[in-house]
Amino acid sequence: MGKILIRGAKVLGGEPQDVLVDGEVIEAVGTGLSAEGAEVVEADGKVLLPGLVDLHTHLREPGREDSETVLTGTRAAASGGFTAVFAMANTFPVADTAGVVEQVYRLGREHGYCDVQPIGAVTVGLEGRQLAELGAMHESAAGVTVFSDDGKCVDDAVIMRRALEYVKAFGGVVAQHAQEPRLTEGAQMNEGVVSAELGLGGWPAVAEESIIARDVLLAEHVGSRVHICHLSTAGSVEIVRWAKSRGIDVTAEVTPHHLLLTDELVRTYNPVYKVNPPLRTERDVLALREALADGTIDIVATDHAPHPHEDKDCEWAAAAMGMVGLETALSVVQQTMVETGLLDWAGVADRMSARPAAIGGATGHGRPVSAGEPANLTLVDTAYRGAVDPAGFASRSRNTPYEGRELPGRVTHTWLRGKATLVDGKLA
Ligand SMILES: [Zn+2]
Repeated sequence: MGKILIRGAKVLGGEPQDVLVDGEVIEAVGTGLSAEGAEVVEADGKVLLPGLVDLHTHLREPGREDSETVLTGTRAAASGGFTAVFAMANTFPVADTAGVVEQVYRLGREHGYCDVQPIGAVTVGLEGRQLAELGAMHESAAGVTVFSDDGKCVDDAVIMRRALEYVKAFGGVVAQHAQEPRLTEGAQMNEGVVSAELGLGGWPAVAEESIIARDVLLAEHVGSRVHICHLSTAGSVEIVRWAKSRGIDVTAEVTPHHLLLTDELVRTYNPVYKVNPPLRTERDVLALREALADGTIDIVATDHAPHPHEDKDCEWAAAAMGMVGLETALSVVQQTMVETGLLDWAGVADRMSARPAAIGGATGHGRPVSAGEPANLTLVDTAYRGAVDPAGFASRSRNTPYEGRELPGRVTHTWLRGKATLVDGKLA
């Protein structure tokens, strides 16, 4: 691998600078750097960020390769500016053994578009009854440190307590999908004015908030670390804010779609808006944005949830829950957080790269854009405006809620350890 000179890039949105990459590493950052012997990429005032890190991606392999594979999912990740993704455990078979997590880890490495760090299941088969082999997954070649039954809640308090105790020994973290199962039986959308009008089963905010309240207290009791997946309500924000003020070791994520969309969209009965947790109200959206800005919510995570056409193109009640998100995440964050003045680009780098890498222990990712650091980089044309066209997605699935919607910004280049994975908006 030779040298690359990225000329005139606004590093973290600052003044234009040149960034010289040599092999896998950033050699220098400055003005007027020599292009001698280097391939030149004219950045023309685009914003250069550290490669994005997604703590919550569903790659569907093994078992649901009709939705996504490690290859198509990591190509989607590279298209969206990501250099590392954490792959959720709800595959078939479930990633609850060293064998499955090693397979997913190896596939990511082989394809080379994006590092894949598997998440291990908390319980065997995601059934919530018996702890999975957390230690064996941690000691495997995949080096798992994040454990989650995502898609399902670890609702048994004793199991949750044991999981928190277990991961504490090696500095791991349990990522909870907070959904009290009894309170959400038959739930189809957010419980509120719209669900009452439409006559759809409601998903009350308290089903999420009660589990978060329990789990931050359990984490405090055990002295362990808990991460809350996809916060969706204003009340959840208040609980996490309280827990942090009390010194509890809790981190939290929000998805791009919960920063932008509301349950009013369910009036269309278009199942593309059906997601878990459900789209909430305008008040919730505003609280989530504010919490991401003030650091109560640590990170943005996509919850990229690909589904084949036949699982989404049906009536609302029968449709699968979830949306793809890797290829639109940064644009949604630009619209909801940057263009509203809530975060600058340094803040985006923090919430979408540095902090998720730190929570998941993704070594070499989320580092500063400075000399000596691994060249995991993303170049963004922030002036771009265009309608989302899922036909151009690298993902195998098309279930985006943004089809035809104009969003700002477009990732033009991604580099994984100095190797271009995306060039001028095209996968390398
Ligand atoms: Zn989930």
